[in-house]
Amino acid sequence: TNETLDAVGGASRGAERFDHWIDGWGAAPVGGAYRPTTSPVDRSVSFEIADGDGRDVDAAAVAASSARHAWAATSTAERSDLLRAVGTAVRENLDGLVEAEIAETGKLVAHARAEMLSCADYFEYYAAVVRTMHGETIDQGPGQHTYTRHEPFGVVGIIAPWNGPLNQASRGIAPALAAGNTVIVKPSEFTSAATLRFARLASAAGLPHGVLNVVTGTGPAAGAALVRHDAVRKVTFTGSVPTGQVIAGIAAERVIPLTLELGGKSPLVVFGDADLDRAALAAATTTLMNSGQVCSATTRLIVERSAQDALLGRVSAILEQKQPGVDFGPIITEPQFEKVLGFFESAAEAGATALTGGACYRQGAAASGRYIAPTVYKDVTPDMRIAREEIFGPVLVSLPFDGFDEAITLANDTEYGLAAAVWTGDVARGLRAAHLIEAGQVAVNGGVMTQETPFGGYKRSGYGREKGAAAVYEYTQVKTVSLGL
Ligand code: NAD
Repeated sequence: TNETLDAVGGASRGAERFDHWIDGWGAAPVGGAYRPTTSPVDRSVSFEIADGDGRDVDAAAVAASSARHAWAATSTAERSDLLRAVGTAVRENLDGLVEAEIAETGKLVAHARAEMLSCADYFEYYAAVVRTMHGETIDQGPGQHTYTRHEPFGVVGIIAPWNGPLNQASRGIAPALAAGNTVIVKPSEFTSAATLRFARLASAAGLPHGVLNVVTGTGPAAGAALVRHDAVRKVTFTGSVPTGQVIAGIAAERVIPLTLELGGKSPLVVFGDADLDRAALAAATTTLMNSGQVCSATTRLIVERSAQDALLGRVSAILEQKQPGVDFGPIITEPQFEKVLGFFESAAEAGATALTGGACYRQGAAASGRYIAPTVYKDVTPDMRIAREEIFGPVLVSLPFDGFDEAITLANDTEYGLAAAVWTGDVARGLRAAHLIEAGQVAVNGGVMTQETPFGGYKRSGYGREKGAAAVYEYTQVKTVSLGL
């Protein structure tokens, strides 16, 4: 209880210390430990974050369980008003959230602002969606009146990754709250501050105590305790496949539903008749955006052989002009930085050619941060590690194809199925490709995904859907009520 609402949106002063957010208050970790988060820009300490474990999850579960009946009993109009107020609070306190996000992720200001606005949009969007929720009546003849209700699960656990910390968490928090659940969030141990500031803001905006709680700490300690906790009746996990598998195992034991948003190795298919300037810009943008640390980044450039050189020339020309810290940000965590550099070694051993990039910065200001030059590989074959594994860095690999069928075969030659992009001058062919590619979302000729569009994986990219109006029902269970007349 040593936190005050005055700090909401305030600037951080050196290594500001963050407690958990439980029952509407800052709560010091039971074990007393804090762990530092660092800035990827210069590796300095950004914040001290409560290093929680099962005891802190217990406290949050008590708060979330105590609050759940009253919250579920509110009208959809009341929840809608509160969610909208949370969205407004985010917009009004954008600077403090952006600052916390940047301190831990090094994101470009414009990107961090866009993510925070997206967070506000999730709350405003689900504030509207909750007013449309409805069950159905089932006609069994004159002697019965039978209908369905969508009831909340109770307490929902949300586990978030480090690449879009608050934005990814909001994608789950907003519909879960809208549906009448209370929530416990476990952010990544690398990026927790914006989510903690956000939770304070949400409480100040009127969200009743215990409705939204945040417990920080590592995955194996705080995260696993959350998934195992008896009070938690549904989990939404966004992160890597190996962690998703561990969580799915626990959820299977406990027989609780799970939404899994996992990794990707998404294709960007370019036919020879495409507008190559636009396709090149799209390929460069997906490489630069958050330095490729985006689950739905379309990093396998599958290009018609006749257009390969023209396209790669354009992409490389764009990327070569980009400056670290100005046009793209750093790699957020140290292990991830090392992992991307490891992929460069593997690419060199396998015989791929780096047209541009292929290294981190060893000189100048960028050398003190975790910056990696935007990279394009040519002469890649489908068996290479850089063609198969999710790199999660600013690395594009190019695979040439001859003919429509080979394009689709290459696009689907992956264990993942999160997203895809297709560029072609023939719209019908673009849509045919979209229908054949095994992925949860396919953008043809620059199609755009927003809060309204369902999102989720095919294959090992996960199951369940987030975003879109239907996602609110993923946080409900159906009850059928039948009345004899
Ligand atoms: P990660 O799996 O290492 O960690 C994700 C979260 O899980 C963190 O909060 C972590 O603390 C927690 N965790 C780790 N071990 C746990 C355990 N045993 N029990 C419970 N929780 C545990 O993933 P990451 O490195 O933070 O994120 C990068 C990955 O996330 C990439 O694979 C990326 O593609 C994926 N991702 C997917 C989406 C999507 O929507 N599909 C979005 C963003 C990121």
